[in-house]
Amino acid sequence: MAVPNVVPRAVVITVGDELLLGDTVDSNAARIGKVLAGLGAPVVRKETVGDEAAAIRVAVARALDDGDLVVVTGGLGPTPDDLTREAVAELFGRPLQTDPDLVAMLSARFRTAGSGAFPELNLSQAMVPEGARVLPNARGTAPGLALEREGRWVVLLQGVPVELEGMLAGPVRDLVREIFSDRLRPPVHRFFRTTGIAESCLAERVEGLLPAERGPVQLAYLPSIRGVDLRFTVTGGVDTDEARIWLERMEGALEDLSPYRYHDEDLVAAVAVSLECAGRTLAVAESCTGGLLAKRLTDRAGASNWFYGGVVSYTDDSKVERLGVAPALLARVGAVSEEVARSMAVGVARVFRADVGVGITGIAGPSGGTSDKPVGTVWYAVTVGERTAVETEVFVGDREAVRERSTQAALHLLYRTISD
Ligand code: ATP
Ligand code: MG
Repeated sequence: MAVPNVVPRAVVITVGDELLLGDTVDSNAARIGKVLAGLGAPVVRKETVGDEAAAIRVAVARALDDGDLVVVTGGLGPTPDDLTREAVAELFGRPLQTDPDLVAMLSARFRTAGSGAFPELNLSQAMVPEGARVLPNARGTAPGLALEREGRWVVLLQGVPVELEGMLAGPVRDLVREIFSDRLRPPVHRFFRTTGIAESCLAERVEGLLPAERGPVQLAYLPSIRGVDLRFTVTGGVDTDEARIWLERMEGALEDLSPYRYHDEDLVAAVAVSLECAGRTLAVAESCTGGLLAKRLTDRAGASNWFYGGVVSYTDDSKVERLGVAPALLARVGAVSEEVARSMAVGVARVFRADVGVGITGIAGPSGGTSDKPVGTVWYAVTVGERTAVETEVFVGDREAVRERSTQAALHLLYRTISD
């Protein structure tokens, strides 16, 4: 039978009562979706079923109606609630057979792990449906399995997320490339990351700036608490040079949005690169963010190259004692003010002998707001040499959101200030 030269369609089935009951978030489906999309065999549908053989059988049969590739995760383990292998063997009419190589491999693994004799229960993991391919699992005992019928494939994978990840990055990727080869159409993406502008304002500006003719380019808005990413995508077999020309045209049209734009996958990465290039060092003084900024900075490996440290300065007294903020200033304008943010930034740079200082002071809520300083009011400052930049915002959301948004806004000001 001639294989139609169209992009393969993948269907995902995740198996587990815990997924239906909400005890476990179905992160596996997301991971599979991402990997298959990247390979050019996008997931068109997904379904979750409980630990029940009949439900698994029905779901796989349905998926084979319109899927070229059906990926099932969960229920490959050795316990009696693991039924995927049996269910699919029965659906395909392929009896399970003990694979002697797998028995040898599993016994050896148990011996080297010092777990003693090979438990009877684990023998089920050496059972392979007749004619199935075994996909080696470097991170666990149960191997993956792949079965083919009339050009359509079912791949059975582990439920444990780290094992699944290993399978996707190796054996599954190789299998997909082998079986679908020239039918795969990997998309080309380009991200335009923004922060400090609301999604609706951004969309209005973007729609005004982009040309009406966008050829094969699709645009998605991906908002999060830290900002909005624009994702431009060219799918479906467009020549890569042509895709690049289209993507550059889109990116070029958004020049006016550069004050909101940052490069790299994360603002911290962008800040780190900029500090490292300039050979500058940083210290931070935080009030309402309670160390969140220092946490985000130190999440990055190698932060010690440019990050000297931080002070969480919550009370007025500590701002005076640790950062040298003037008591008279605090009395006159209050802790949440332009002047105090500025003084915290300058003070912490001096205390740590850093080139760059950041100060953040605000009211995270839910209480503590007043009519002229409502909950969410935050001042943040960045000092470099003789120059100090200060901004303020009234952030919306609960305490956590205000703290998260304040941290992101301070990072954004830091990024703009040091990359000037
Ligand atoms: P095991 O050998 O551990 O039995 P298995 O292949 O049978 O592995 P499951 O028993 O279904 O897989 O799940 C094992 C673990 O992986 C459980 O902690 C489960 O909550 C988690 N898990 C299963 N499916 C998913 C999923 N779709 N997303 C995230 N985690 C999952
Ligand atoms: Mg299990």
